[in-house]
Amino acid sequence: MDVERYRVVPGSAVDLGQWPPDGHDLVPGGKDDGEELHNEYNDRLEQLQELFFADNRHRLLVIIQAIDTGGKDGTIRHVFDKTNPAGVRVAPFKKPSTEELAHDYLWRVHAEVPRDGEIVVFNRSHYEDVLVVRVHDLVPEERWHKRYDHINDFERMLVDEGTHIVKLFLNISKDEQRERLQDRVDRPDKRWKFNKGDLAERKLWNEYQSAYTEMLSRTSTDWAPWYVIPADRKWYRNVLVGHILVTKLESLGLSWPQPEEGIKGIVVE
Ligand code: AMP
Ligand code: MG
Repeated sequence: MDVERYRVVPGSAVDLGQWPPDGHDLVPGGKDDGEELHNEYNDRLEQLQELFFADNRHRLLVIIQAIDTGGKDGTIRHVFDKTNPAGVRVAPFKKPSTEELAHDYLWRVHAEVPRDGEIVVFNRSHYEDVLVVRVHDLVPEERWHKRYDHINDFERMLVDEGTHIVKLFLNISKDEQRERLQDRVDRPDKRWKFNKGDLAERKLWNEYQSAYTEMLSRTSTDWAPWYVIPADRKWYRNVLVGHILVTKLESLGLSWPQPEEGIKGIVVE
Protein backbone atom coordinates (compact mmCIF):
# COMPACT_ATOMS: atom_id res chain seq x y z
CA MET A 1 0.00 0.00 0.00
CA ASP A 2 1.59 3.26 -1.09
CA VAL A 3 0.56 5.78 1.54
CA GLU A 4 3.36 8.12 0.48
CA ARG A 5 0.84 9.90 -1.71
CA TYR A 6 -0.73 11.21 1.49
CA ARG A 7 2.56 12.56 2.86
CA VAL A 8 2.98 16.31 2.57
CA VAL A 9 6.23 16.90 0.70
CA PRO A 10 8.38 19.17 2.88
CA GLY A 11 8.51 22.71 1.54
CA SER A 12 5.56 22.22 -0.81
CA ALA A 13 2.58 24.58 -0.95
CA VAL A 14 -0.37 22.49 0.16
CA ASP A 15 -3.65 22.37 -1.71
CA LEU A 16 -6.06 20.30 0.37
CA GLY A 17 -8.09 19.63 -2.77
CA GLN A 18 -5.38 17.11 -3.66
CA TRP A 19 -6.73 14.66 -1.06
CA PRO A 20 -10.55 14.48 -1.22
CA PRO A 21 -11.93 13.63 2.25
CA ASP A 22 -14.16 10.86 0.89
CA GLY A 23 -11.43 9.20 -1.19
CA HIS A 24 -10.48 5.55 -0.65
CA ASP A 25 -8.06 5.02 -3.52
CA LEU A 26 -5.79 2.51 -1.84
CA VAL A 27 -8.70 0.22 -0.94
CA PRO A 28 -10.89 0.43 -4.06
CA GLY A 29 -12.90 -2.63 -2.97
CA GLY A 30 -14.57 -0.67 -0.16
CA LYS A 31 -15.53 -1.21 3.44
CA ASP A 32 -15.38 -5.02 3.71
CA ASP A 33 -11.86 -5.13 2.30
CA GLY A 34 -10.96 -2.19 4.53
CA GLU A 35 -12.15 -3.89 7.68
CA GLU A 36 -10.17 -7.00 6.87
CA LEU A 37 -7.02 -4.89 6.43
CA HIS A 38 -7.77 -2.97 9.59
CA ASN A 39 -7.89 -6.22 11.57
CA GLU A 40 -4.59 -7.33 10.07
CA TYR A 41 -2.91 -4.05 11.01
CA ASN A 42 -4.35 -4.20 14.51
CA ASP A 43 -2.89 -7.68 15.04
CA ARG A 44 0.44 -6.53 13.68
CA LEU A 45 0.40 -3.38 15.82
CA GLU A 46 -0.29 -5.51 18.90
CA GLN A 47 2.87 -7.54 18.22
CA LEU A 48 5.01 -4.58 17.24
CA GLN A 49 4.01 -2.52 20.24
CA GLU A 50 5.05 -5.30 22.60
CA LEU A 51 8.39 -5.60 20.83
CA PHE A 52 8.81 -1.81 20.90
CA PHE A 53 8.17 -1.81 24.64
CA ALA A 54 10.59 -4.67 25.30
CA ASP A 55 13.26 -3.22 23.01
CA ASN A 56 13.10 0.00 25.05
CA ARG A 57 15.46 1.96 22.79
CA HIS A 58 12.97 4.16 20.93
CA ARG A 59 10.19 6.60 21.70
CA LEU A 60 7.19 7.17 19.45
CA LEU A 61 5.07 10.30 19.37
CA VAL A 62 1.89 10.24 17.29
CA ILE A 63 0.30 13.65 16.80
CA ILE A 64 -3.34 13.77 15.71
CA GLN A 65 -4.98 16.98 14.58
CA ALA A 66 -8.43 17.51 13.09
CA ILE A 67 -11.30 19.91 13.13
CA ASP A 68 -14.18 19.24 15.62
CA THR A 69 -15.77 15.82 14.88
CA GLY A 70 -12.79 14.97 12.66
CA GLY A 71 -12.41 11.58 14.34
CA LYS A 72 -9.47 12.01 16.71
CA ASP A 73 -11.00 9.98 19.55
CA GLY A 74 -12.40 7.29 17.26
CA THR A 75 -9.08 6.83 15.48
CA ILE A 76 -7.25 6.33 18.75
CA ARG A 77 -9.86 3.90 20.02
CA HIS A 78 -9.92 1.77 16.87
CA VAL A 79 -6.26 1.78 15.88
CA PHE A 80 -4.86 1.10 19.35
CA ASP A 81 -7.63 -1.37 20.16
CA LYS A 82 -5.30 -4.30 20.76
CA THR A 83 -2.22 -2.60 22.16
CA ASN A 84 -1.11 -2.86 25.77
CA PRO A 85 -2.18 0.15 27.87
CA ALA A 86 1.03 -0.26 29.88
CA GLY A 87 3.03 1.05 26.94
CA VAL A 88 0.62 3.41 25.20
CA ARG A 89 -0.57 6.70 26.64
CA VAL A 90 -2.97 9.30 25.25
CA ALA A 91 -2.25 12.94 26.06
CA PRO A 92 -5.19 15.26 25.26
CA PHE A 93 -4.59 19.00 25.00
CA LYS A 94 -7.55 21.10 26.05
CA LYS A 95 -7.91 24.83 26.51
CA PRO A 96 -4.78 25.77 28.48
CA SER A 97 -5.16 26.25 32.24
CA THR A 98 -4.09 29.46 33.97
CA GLU A 99 -0.90 27.70 35.03
CA GLU A 100 -0.21 26.57 31.46
CA LEU A 101 -0.92 30.04 30.09
CA ALA A 102 1.62 31.44 32.54
CA HIS A 103 4.32 29.53 30.58
CA ASP A 104 5.41 29.34 26.96
CA TYR A 105 3.10 27.23 24.77
CA LEU A 106 5.53 24.29 24.48
CA TRP A 107 5.92 23.89 28.23
CA ARG A 108 2.90 21.63 28.73
CA VAL A 109 3.67 19.76 25.53
CA HIS A 110 7.26 18.90 26.35
CA ALA A 111 6.11 17.45 29.67
CA GLU A 112 4.02 14.81 27.84
CA VAL A 113 6.49 13.46 25.26
CA PRO A 114 7.20 9.70 25.37
CA ARG A 115 9.92 8.00 27.38
CA ASP A 116 11.95 5.00 26.14
CA GLY A 117 9.72 2.16 24.97
CA GLU A 118 6.59 4.27 25.18
CA ILE A 119 4.08 5.33 22.53
CA VAL A 120 2.30 8.60 23.27
CA VAL A 121 -0.62 9.81 21.20
CA PHE A 122 -1.32 13.53 21.26
CA ASN A 123 -5.05 14.23 20.88
CA ARG A 124 -4.59 17.84 19.70
CA SER A 125 -1.15 19.28 20.38
CA HIS A 126 1.12 22.31 20.13
CA TYR A 127 -0.42 22.78 16.68
CA GLU A 128 -3.47 24.31 18.37
CA ASP A 129 -1.14 27.23 19.02
CA VAL A 130 -1.14 28.01 15.29
CA LEU A 131 -4.77 26.89 14.71
CA VAL A 132 -7.39 27.90 17.29
CA VAL A 133 -5.03 30.61 18.52
CA ARG A 134 -4.78 32.04 15.01
CA VAL A 135 -8.46 31.72 14.11
CA HIS A 136 -9.54 33.39 17.37
CA ASP A 137 -6.74 35.93 17.49
CA LEU A 138 -5.72 34.75 20.96
CA VAL A 139 -2.22 36.13 20.47
CA PRO A 140 -1.08 38.67 17.85
CA GLU A 141 -0.04 37.35 14.44
CA GLU A 142 3.55 38.51 14.84
CA ARG A 143 3.76 36.15 17.80
CA TRP A 144 1.99 33.01 16.47
CA HIS A 145 3.69 33.31 13.10
CA LYS A 146 7.08 32.64 14.65
CA ARG A 147 5.74 29.41 16.11
CA TYR A 148 6.09 27.44 12.87
CA ASP A 149 9.86 27.75 13.18
CA HIS A 150 9.85 27.01 16.92
CA ILE A 151 7.78 23.90 16.34
CA ASN A 152 10.06 22.63 13.59
CA ASP A 153 13.10 23.18 15.81
CA PHE A 154 11.42 21.58 18.83
CA GLU A 155 10.44 18.48 16.84
CA ARG A 156 13.92 18.30 15.34
CA MET A 157 15.41 18.27 18.82
CA LEU A 158 13.06 15.45 19.86
CA VAL A 159 13.99 13.43 16.78
CA ASP A 160 17.73 14.05 17.22
CA GLU A 161 17.40 12.76 20.77
CA GLY A 162 15.66 9.50 19.81
CA THR A 163 11.92 10.22 19.42
CA HIS A 164 10.13 9.25 16.23
CA ILE A 165 7.25 11.51 15.24
CA VAL A 166 4.22 10.61 13.13
CA LYS A 167 1.85 13.50 12.36
CA LEU A 168 -1.67 12.82 11.12
CA PHE A 169 -4.18 15.39 9.93
CA LEU A 170 -7.63 13.81 9.69
CA ASN A 171 -9.34 15.60 6.84
CA ILE A 172 -13.16 15.60 6.79
CA SER A 173 -15.50 17.55 4.54
CA LYS A 174 -17.85 20.28 5.70
CA ASP A 175 -20.86 18.09 4.85
CA GLU A 176 -19.49 15.23 6.90
CA GLN A 177 -19.00 17.59 9.84
CA ARG A 178 -22.64 18.66 9.60
CA GLU A 179 -23.77 15.05 9.74
CA ARG A 180 -21.53 14.22 12.67
CA LEU A 181 -22.58 17.30 14.66
CA GLN A 182 -26.24 16.50 13.96
CA ASP A 183 -25.63 12.96 15.16
CA ARG A 184 -24.17 14.33 18.38
CA VAL A 185 -27.30 16.40 18.93
CA ASP A 186 -29.68 13.56 18.07
CA ARG A 187 -28.08 10.66 19.92
CA PRO A 188 -28.33 10.59 23.72
CA ASP A 189 -25.10 8.59 23.95
CA LYS A 190 -23.22 11.22 21.95
CA ARG A 191 -24.79 14.42 23.24
CA TRP A 192 -22.17 14.81 25.96
CA LYS A 193 -19.63 15.58 23.26
CA PHE A 194 -21.62 18.50 21.86
CA ASN A 195 -21.29 22.12 22.98
CA LYS A 196 -23.21 25.01 21.47
CA GLY A 197 -19.80 26.58 20.85
CA ASP A 198 -19.21 23.88 18.21
CA LEU A 199 -21.71 25.71 15.96
CA ALA A 200 -19.79 28.98 16.24
CA GLU A 201 -16.59 27.07 15.38
CA ARG A 202 -18.29 25.53 12.34
CA LYS A 203 -19.01 29.05 11.05
CA LEU A 204 -15.25 29.57 10.99
CA TRP A 205 -14.74 26.55 8.70
CA ASN A 206 -12.89 28.52 6.01
CA GLU A 207 -10.60 30.21 8.52
CA TYR A 208 -9.71 26.80 9.96
CA GLN A 209 -9.05 25.39 6.47
CA SER A 210 -6.60 28.24 5.81
CA ALA A 211 -4.91 27.69 9.16
CA TYR A 212 -4.56 23.93 8.52
CA THR A 213 -3.24 24.56 5.03
CA GLU A 214 -0.52 26.89 6.24
CA MET A 215 0.34 24.58 9.13
CA LEU A 216 0.78 21.66 6.72
CA SER A 217 2.86 23.73 4.30
CA ARG A 218 5.19 25.11 6.95
CA THR A 219 5.63 22.21 9.36
CA SER A 220 5.89 19.10 7.20
CA THR A 221 9.59 18.35 7.51
CA ASP A 222 11.95 15.53 6.58
CA TRP A 223 12.21 14.62 10.27
CA ALA A 224 8.50 14.92 11.07
CA PRO A 225 6.30 14.91 7.96
CA TRP A 226 2.54 15.35 7.97
CA TYR A 227 0.13 12.85 6.46
CA VAL A 228 -3.25 14.10 5.26
CA ILE A 229 -5.72 11.30 5.96
CA PRO A 230 -9.02 11.30 4.04
CA ALA A 231 -11.34 10.82 6.99
CA ASP A 232 -14.98 11.00 5.84
CA ARG A 233 -14.96 7.20 5.74
CA LYS A 234 -13.93 5.99 9.15
CA TRP A 235 -12.91 2.55 7.89
CA TYR A 236 -10.49 4.05 5.35
CA ARG A 237 -9.04 6.43 7.93
CA ASN A 238 -8.40 3.49 10.27
CA VAL A 239 -6.69 1.47 7.54
CA LEU A 240 -4.34 4.31 6.57
CA VAL A 241 -3.42 5.20 10.14
CA GLY A 242 -2.85 1.55 11.03
CA HIS A 243 -0.69 1.08 7.99
CA ILE A 244 1.41 4.18 8.68
CA LEU A 245 2.08 3.12 12.27
CA VAL A 246 2.91 -0.48 11.38
CA THR A 247 5.29 0.68 8.65
CA LYS A 248 6.97 3.13 11.02
CA LEU A 249 7.49 0.50 13.74
CA GLU A 250 8.73 -2.05 11.20
CA SER A 251 11.33 0.42 9.97
CA LEU A 252 13.00 0.73 13.38
CA GLY A 253 14.81 -2.61 13.39
CA LEU A 254 13.32 -3.55 16.76
CA SER A 255 14.62 -6.61 18.60
CA TRP A 256 14.03 -8.48 21.85
CA PRO A 257 16.59 -7.51 24.48
CA GLN A 258 19.48 -9.91 25.14
CA PRO A 259 18.54 -12.17 28.04
CA GLU A 260 20.88 -12.74 30.94
CA GLU A 261 23.73 -15.22 30.22
CA GLY A 262 23.07 -18.88 30.91
CA ILE A 263 19.27 -18.84 30.97
CA LYS A 264 18.74 -21.21 28.05
CA GLY A 265 18.16 -24.77 29.18
CA ILE A 266 17.36 -23.91 32.80
CA VAL A 267 14.71 -26.26 34.19
CA VAL A 268 12.36 -24.59 36.64
CA GLU A 269 11.53 -26.95 39.51
P1 AMP B 1 -12.20 18.82 22.80
O1 AMP B 1 -11.11 18.28 21.93
O2 AMP B 1 -13.55 18.77 22.17
O3 AMP B 1 -12.17 18.22 24.16
O4 AMP B 1 -11.93 20.37 23.00
C1 AMP B 1 -10.71 20.88 23.43
C2 AMP B 1 -10.75 22.36 23.21
O5 AMP B 1 -9.52 22.91 23.67
C3 AMP B 1 -10.89 22.73 21.75
O6 AMP B 1 -11.89 23.68 21.61
C4 AMP B 1 -9.54 23.33 21.42
O7 AMP B 1 -9.61 24.32 20.44
C5 AMP B 1 -9.11 23.88 22.76
N1 AMP B 1 -7.66 24.07 22.82
C6 AMP B 1 -6.71 23.13 22.75
N2 AMP B 1 -5.47 23.68 22.78
C7 AMP B 1 -5.67 25.01 22.86
C8 AMP B 1 -4.78 26.12 22.93
N3 AMP B 1 -3.46 25.97 22.90
N4 AMP B 1 -5.33 27.35 23.01
C9 AMP B 1 -6.67 27.51 23.04
N5 AMP B 1 -7.55 26.51 23.00
C10 AMP B 1 -7.06 25.28 22.89
MG1 MG C 1 -15.19 19.29 21.20
